[in-house]
Parts: sequence; structure tokens; C-alpha cells
Amino acid sequence: KKGDLRFKRVLLKVSGEALMGSAQYGIDVETVGRIAREIKQAVEIGAEVCLVIGGGNIFRGLSGAAQGMERASADYMGMLATIMNALAMQNALEGLGVSTRVQSAIPMMSVCEPYIRRKAVRHMEKGRVVIFAAGTGNPFFTTDTAAALRASEMGCDALMKGTQVDGIYTADPKTNPDAERYEELTFMDVLSQDLKVMDASAVALARDNNIPIVVFSIHEPGGFVSVLNGTGRSTIVKS
Ligand code: UDP
Repeated sequence: KKGDLRFKRVLLKVSGEALMGSAQYGIDVETVGRIAREIKQAVEIGAEVCLVIGGGNIFRGLSGAAQGMERASADYMGMLATIMNALAMQNALEGLGVSTRVQSAIPMMSVCEPYIRRKAVRHMEKGRVVIFAAGTGNPFFTTDTAAALRASEMGCDALMKGTQVDGIYTADPKTNPDAERYEELTFMDVLSQDLKVMDASAVALARDNNIPIVVFSIHEPGGFVSVLNGTGRSTIVKS
């Protein structure tokens, strides 16, 4: 029901790999459609949603650099990959009747809007889903950091990190049956124990701007909405 959301305005970060489905590379249209339905449900219960999508399903700067490319060039290729993912997600959302805008940190005027913070805020107020593409626009960063940055700029109540599992565990839940999920952790816990949630610069930025990071499963049907209204399984990282 509208109005009783635990988190009203949120940024959802989805890694590129979440879009691959069972494939080893690229975009699985069915999987993108499934995630789009989760986002549509969230919009329907009155959440204001913006998205940052990674690019690791297509290209990662580090892997290019490992093959001898200059790191900055490889990172630009990674950022371009996120634009492809953003267009795939836009297409899926619009197909479900959800109004969207893509804004790219690297202007690509005939493909999408350039990133303009005040315009993005306005889109969100009008109920549009804003998809932020091209990360921060800078090499040597990641889309996790872009997500923390945009969440800060948009004044989001939370940074929702949609992952393969429903939170942060004491051990790897896939291999260790005794692993337990944390309900809550502090930013300091995550940074000092080097817990693999998001990269350290993203966690530090979220901490400095006091934006909780909510780690949940993006693959569980209805999971996004249930975390937004406070009933779903997640780990919340906060001060
Ligand atoms: N990237 C970058 N600057 C940014 C965001 C991304 O250079 O602000 C590049 C970087 O090379 C990265 C690639 O884009 O490896 C894809 O992003 P990321 O690895 O964060 O995607 P994910 O792991 O979320 O799929």
C-alpha cells in the first residue's frame, strides 16, 4: 500500500552479471525482463526508483588492462558496456508500461539524455525510473561507486544492492550450511572486516552521506518490494 514504505526513494544497483541469466556473457532478455517486473512492482507501490547497472557481463576495465590495454581506455569500454545494459533495461521497463529515462555520465546525445542532476530529480518526482549509465564517467572507478554517488546526489533513503544472495553472511552460504545472515552491520564492520559487499570507496561514500546500504536478493520474486516495505530478507549496513 502506498505511503507505508520503509524506503521511499531508492537507488537500485544491479551488477552486469545479474543480467546474464545462466549464460556466461552478455544480456539475457528474459532475466532483464524479470528484474524489470520487480522494479515495476516497486513503482506501483509508490517507491521512487533510480538505477545504476554495471557492465561486467560485457566488459571490465581490469580484464582489458590485464591483456595489456591502457587501464583508462579499458575503463571507457567498460562504461560503454553499462550504456548497453541501461538501454536493455529501459526497453524492458518501457515494454511493461513503466516510464523511464536513461541519463549517461558520458554524453551520447542521440541515444539518451546527458546526466543532469536536477533533471534526474524531476524525473523521479514524476514517477519515472531514471537509469544512470556510464558509471561516474571517470576511469578508475566502478559502478558501485557510481551508485553511491548518484544515491547521494538524488537524496535517496537507501542504496539497494541487488545481489545473488539475500544479504551478507558469516560465511559463504553456498558452501557452508552453518553460515548465518546478518540483519544489520555498521559501515565500519564492512570496511574493517573487508566484507565483500561493494567496493570500499562506495561504502565510504555511503557512510559519509549517511545512506544505508541494503543488500538483498534480486532473483527472488517479489523480493525488491518486500525489502522496500520492510518485510523482506536483507542485511542493512548503516552507521
Ligand atoms: N567503469 C569506470 N568508471 C565508472 C564505472 C565503471 O571506469 O565510474 C568501468 C570499469 O572498467 C568497470 C566497468 O566499467 O570494470 C564495468 O563496471 P563494473 O565493473 O562496476 O560493473 P559490475 O561489476 O557492476 O557489473
